[in-house]
Amino acid sequence: VTVTFTDKIGVTLVDSMGGDESVVHAERKGLLNFLMTNRHASPFEHVTATFLVECPIFVVREVHRHRTFSYNEVSGRYSVLEPKFYIPNEDRPLQQIGKVGAYNFAPGTELQQEHTREQLTAAYTAAWGHYQFLLNQGVAKEVARMVLPVGIYTSFYMTGNLRNFLNFLVLRTSQDALYEIREMAFQIETKLRTVAPTCLDLWDENNRRGL
Ligand SMILES: Cc1cc2nc3c(=O)[nH]c(=O)nc-3n(C[C@H](O)[C@H](O)[C@H](O)COP(=O)(O)OP(=O)(O)OC[C@H]3O[C@@H](n4cnc5c(N)ncnc54)[C@H](O)[C@@H]3O)c2cc1C
Repeated sequence: VTVTFTDKIGVTLVDSMGGDESVVHAERKGLLNFLMTNRHASPFEHVTATFLVECPIFVVREVHRHRTFSYNEVSGRYSVLEPKFYIPNEDRPLQQIGKVGAYNFAPGTELQQEHTREQLTAAYTAAWGHYQFLLNQGVAKEVARMVLPVGIYTSFYMTGNLRNFLNFLVLRTSQDALYEIREMAFQIETKLRTVAPTCLDLWDENNRRGL
C-alpha cells in the first residue's frame, strides 16, 4: 500500500434542493435583499445542499462544532482508514506571532518548511506502519487506529440549509479561521454560488453578515 501525502482538501457538491427562487418563490431580487438586510432569515432555510468533504481529522474537529448541519463520517471502527496524510504547502503560514486572541501568522522560512515536511512525513510513515502492524496482529480496527495522528484524512457528508451555510461561511472564511478550514469554506462558497447565485451576491453586498 502506498502512503499518500497531500495538501488538497476535497469538497464535492453531491446534491442540492432549491435555489434563489425557493427563498421567495418569485425570483425578485428586491425582496431577497429586503429579507437579507432585515435578517428575516427563515426563507433562506428552504435551500439545502449536501457536500462530500475530504480533509484531515484536525479540520473535521472544527467543522463538527457547527451543530446545525447533519453529518455522516467514514468509521474507523468498521473500515481500515486510507493511508492519506496532510502536508501543508509553502503557502500555508508556519509562524504564529503575538499573543492569544491576537495572533499574526507569517510564512515559514525555507528551513522551517523543510523541517515541517520532513517531520510530518516521518511521523505519518511511522504511525501508518504501527497501524498496519497491529491490524496484522489481529487487533481490532477501533483499537489499532489509536496510533494514527490528526493529520490523517477522513471523509464525511455535510447537509444543511443556506442559512446554516452562510453562518458557517461568516466564521470560517474569516481571516481568523484556521488556514485549512478556510480552504474548505471557500470551496463550499464557490459551489453554493452555483446553487443560489443571487443570494450569494446579495450576501456579499451586505458585507457577508450572518443571518
Ligand atoms: C476563530 C474561531 C476560534 C474558535 N476557537 C475555539 C476554541 O478555542 N475552543 C472551542 O471550544 N471552540 C472554538 N471555536 C468554536 C466556536 O466556539 C463555535 O463552537 C463554532 O464556531 C460553531 O459556531 P456556532 O455555535 O455559531 O454554530 P452552530 O453550532 O452551527 O450553531 C448555529 C447557531 O445556532 C444557535 N445555537 C446552536 N446551539 C446552541 C445552543 N446550545 N445554545 C444557544 N444557541 C445555540 C446559535 O445562535 C448559533 O450561532 C472557535 C471558532 C472560531 C470561528
